[in-house]
Amino acid sequence: YWMRMNDLRLLDNKALSRASVQARKVGVPLIVLFVISPQDYIAHDRSARRVDFLLRNLAILKESFSELHIPFHVVVHTPRKTIPQFIVSFCEEHGSKALYANMEYEVDELRRDIQTSQLAFPKDIRVEFLHDKCIIEPGVIITKQEKAYTVYSPYQKNWIATVNANLPFYLEDCSSPVANEPSVRALKSLGPLFESQIPKFIVGFELTEQDRDKMKEVWPAGEISAANVLERFLTTKKRSSQLGGVDPLASGPVACPKHNRIAKYGNERDRIDSDTTSRLSAYLTSGIISARQCARAIMLLTNAKKVESDKTSGIGRWLQEIAWRDFYVNILVFFPRVSMGRPFIEKFSKIVWEDHQVPSDFAIGQGGNISGDSENLQRWKTGMTGVPIVDASMRCLNEMGWMHNRARMITAMYLTKDLMIDWRVGERYFMEMLIDGDLSSNNGGWQWSASTGVDPCPYFRIFNPYTQSAKVDQTGDFIRHWIPELRKVRGPELHNPSASLASKLGYPLPIIAHNEARQRALRRYKNPGEE
Ligand code: FAD
Repeated sequence: YWMRMNDLRLLDNKALSRASVQARKVGVPLIVLFVISPQDYIAHDRSARRVDFLLRNLAILKESFSELHIPFHVVVHTPRKTIPQFIVSFCEEHGSKALYANMEYEVDELRRDIQTSQLAFPKDIRVEFLHDKCIIEPGVIITKQEKAYTVYSPYQKNWIATVNANLPFYLEDCSSPVANEPSVRALKSLGPLFESQIPKFIVGFELTEQDRDKMKEVWPAGEISAANVLERFLTTKKRSSQLGGVDPLASGPVACPKHNRIAKYGNERDRIDSDTTSRLSAYLTSGIISARQCARAIMLLTNAKKVESDKTSGIGRWLQEIAWRDFYVNILVFFPRVSMGRPFIEKFSKIVWEDHQVPSDFAIGQGGNISGDSENLQRWKTGMTGVPIVDASMRCLNEMGWMHNRARMITAMYLTKDLMIDWRVGERYFMEMLIDGDLSSNNGGWQWSASTGVDPCPYFRIFNPYTQSAKVDQTGDFIRHWIPELRKVRGPELHNPSASLASKLGYPLPIIAHNEARQRALRRYKNPGEE
């Protein structure tokens, strides 16, 4: 079994389960291989946080595999182009006649897998790739004309109906027993494979000690941690790590379908100031928990026989978000151009963006601008735009590697429509900072916010960050938590401090006037190519 970066689990893992069952049938030991490919991480803008999370999860997996007498071989391999050759020679070296892996849908990865199959075929090695990332794999939910849905609601309707019509198939638990019989004689010859070490860090993806400790505290590794995060969402249990929101719903570890977080999700999911979403994205993205496991858990909660289709209920609404994840994977597969830096709506490739590179003679502050970003871009990245909700969200991202969905939408729209900075610049920065960075969801979210994608927010819908702020941070706790300069401010001024208050408190003045910025965005989107 060739484990990849997106399926770091033992339970409910299709390729692992299939490999294990086949190995037993044939009477040979199962070997698990993981290839660390730093060049891939560079090419995909993987954050150091996600790479560190990967290593922490691999260390736990190694222990679990060892208890099951399964060699877990982890190698660092460069260059990325020769991975197929490496995989096939590894199989040959160990006499493996079959190779199993879960599909990765990014273009480079698909090409790599095709090449692996082509190299394996003449060597008599059978290669099988399985769909595991989504509940419904890409290509199944299509229109009557056999085209991809580019609008979400009909896709989602079809998605629910398809899952419900084939429940045992789509929600099947793929957790077959995976242990190798210790008595299998061949196991002895695999001795050296058991000894492979998990690196502590990957050169070029090191975290500072402080950041690493923070990530470990907020995003503990392993399947048990993922199950705890899910349990916390489905019960009223409190979580120890704070992500900046308050925790008003916590009152004890009781599973109660009416009073848990998921029950409130339908109405309160947009509240940035409270802790109402699952915070499972880091675990789902790295495949430490599967989307099937999540769907089964919510069905168990209410003893439901079908997946919930009522979008107004908390459970129905949450499932809808899980389906968004599948939707964006589907888009990536049908329209690979979106992953190559191109907008889905092609005419918007002509939009005139503000320059985000700093001119050579420009310097901010005493140290100058180290990263080469324009001042506005640097202020957005560091949470110094003078718009409290944008700054609080960006500071949360920088410290925690995660942001609430609304915060992602507000900051993405502010960058693209208020600052008129190219969405690809923001997309990349998110990938570099997020612990849950995922090409399809991140690209989908950015193209939605920039109005260039499938089913996007229309270009003339431009969030007013101040009114958004009052709606989603009603208590002001989120802003106060992340912006110490404003910690003592109460009332509506918190969302839009006056110039005198801001300068008294040492908080920046807005770098752009929203109404003027809005007019500029409307003009440029209406006539792509014109200033
Ligand atoms: P919940 O609200 O509890 O949702 C449950 C799960 O459903 C999430 O964990 C996620 O897997 C999925 N989900 C929820 N909303 C979406 C969505 N809009 N699109 C796709 N899947 C969704 N999500 C990522 O996993 N990785 C990313 O890199 C990413 N980048 C984004 C960038 C932008 C600009 C935007 C607007 C959204 C992005 N999202 C991304 C989607 C969404 O913001 C996060 O999945 C969500 O905030 C994670 O928090 P949660 O686990 O508490 O979500």
